Amino acid sequence: MTGLRSLALLLPLLLGWASGHPAPGRRSFHKLLLISFDGFRWDYDQDVDTPNMDRLVKEGVKAKYLSPPFVTMTSPSHFTTISGRWVEEHGVIHNMLYNSDKGWKYDFKATQNKTEWWDNGVLPLWITAQRQGRKTASFHYPGGGAKYDGEPVQRSLVESYSHPDSNETEWRENIDIVMDWFKKEDFDFVTLYYGEPDNVGHRFGPETENRRVMIQQIDRTIGYLREAIERHGLTEHLNVIITSDHGMTTIKMKPEVTEILLTNYVKYRDLVKFDLVDYGGLGMIEAKPGQEENLYQALKNAHPSLHVYKKEEFPKHFHYANHKRALPILMYTDPGYNINGRLILHINKGDHGFDNSVMDMKTIFRAFGPDFKKDYLAEPFDSIHIYPLMCKLLGVTPEPHNGSLAVTEGMLRDSSGQNPGSATASKTMHNVVIGLGTVTAVLFVLFIAAVTYTAIQRKKT
Ligand SMILES: [Zn+2]
Repeated sequence: MTGLRSLALLLPLLLGWASGHPAPGRRSFHKLLLISFDGFRWDYDQDVDTPNMDRLVKEGVKAKYLSPPFVTMTSPSHFTTISGRWVEEHGVIHNMLYNSDKGWKYDFKATQNKTEWWDNGVLPLWITAQRQGRKTASFHYPGGGAKYDGEPVQRSLVESYSHPDSNETEWRENIDIVMDWFKKEDFDFVTLYYGEPDNVGHRFGPETENRRVMIQQIDRTIGYLREAIERHGLTEHLNVIITSDHGMTTIKMKPEVTEILLTNYVKYRDLVKFDLVDYGGLGMIEAKPGQEENLYQALKNAHPSLHVYKKEEFPKHFHYANHKRALPILMYTDPGYNINGRLILHINKGDHGFDNSVMDMKTIFRAFGPDFKKDYLAEPFDSIHIYPLMCKLLGVTPEPHNGSLAVTEGMLRDSSGQNPGSATASKTMHNVVIGLGTVTAVLFVLFIAAVTYTAIQRKKT
């Protein structure tokens, strides 16, 4: 009976091995780093040497391009990425915080700590992930400094007013800090933001040598990131998504075009109570009481490249105007036309904020890490779909959102099976089948051995 006794001893070990259960305490998901390079147009890597980004295409996922939401502006678009909601649903409809009754405006940086601007009942992923036991942090990412439903992001660094956008040494230091957060402090999800190449695109224009030089700096930074991940032993543990919030187009000026200057068409003193213009291709305006129709009629056919709507008639496909913060009259322009109010300042040579279907407003999506396929070129998609992908990677149950995992999950390696959901279920099933097959085979061999052994023993007796 030696053979049968061996079997009895081996069986629990064999079954335990075959069940595919992870050892106690093993993580069921990998860490995630989301990096945004502000204003990185989809084709910026095509007229300049970018060896590190090219390597990423081989070693990870690239989308042909990414469509940002309307309005193609920094805060609204970043908050769509982190929440998976259209702009009119999350309510961060502009870079500026404003009050049309009191007449004040706060600029982009001044809004960063202002919870009342960001918290409109939609939870960003930091908070949702925290509430499900993940450790999250934001490094300069728009909206990361606010509280949501009373809760701050566990760790948050907010850009100061004097923060330089383009200091390459500081960029690398920031990567090292984030690597330490992952490695030494076991953070699970970090968002990291850089203000370039947006700044250089505004200042010099997108089709300039200054912009190409900046893209090379970003490419070196991505190379440094790869080294830093390796150096910190995070290669097999960290997924990385590199994306952006919008593109950039060259601003059209005199004498090439007739520029849009609202004061040429409306008497500000008589008709306008409050305006949000001089901010690229989107404008909002509120009339003085009783002057609503006069203001609308004065603007409606003012300029062939200026499209003016009453709030309730603004094109629905933009998913933009159906929010209480949107002012009664909204305007957007053809690409390259700025909406100027009382005078033309010509501060920017490049700008964004235009129709999100325009190619110059499209942006980038790259990803790599243990859960992403290699050498995978994805079709273009809307940035609302990044949110469910991030939830999947972190093993977090998403809040209600406008995205769909079906759009993005083709990028994932289906053999990794580390996350909850259908991929895991099929992986577990696969393990069980292989395991049971192996157990059967081993049992059969042991059975034959036992029978043979017994037969030999019998012969001897
Ligand atoms: Zn931006």
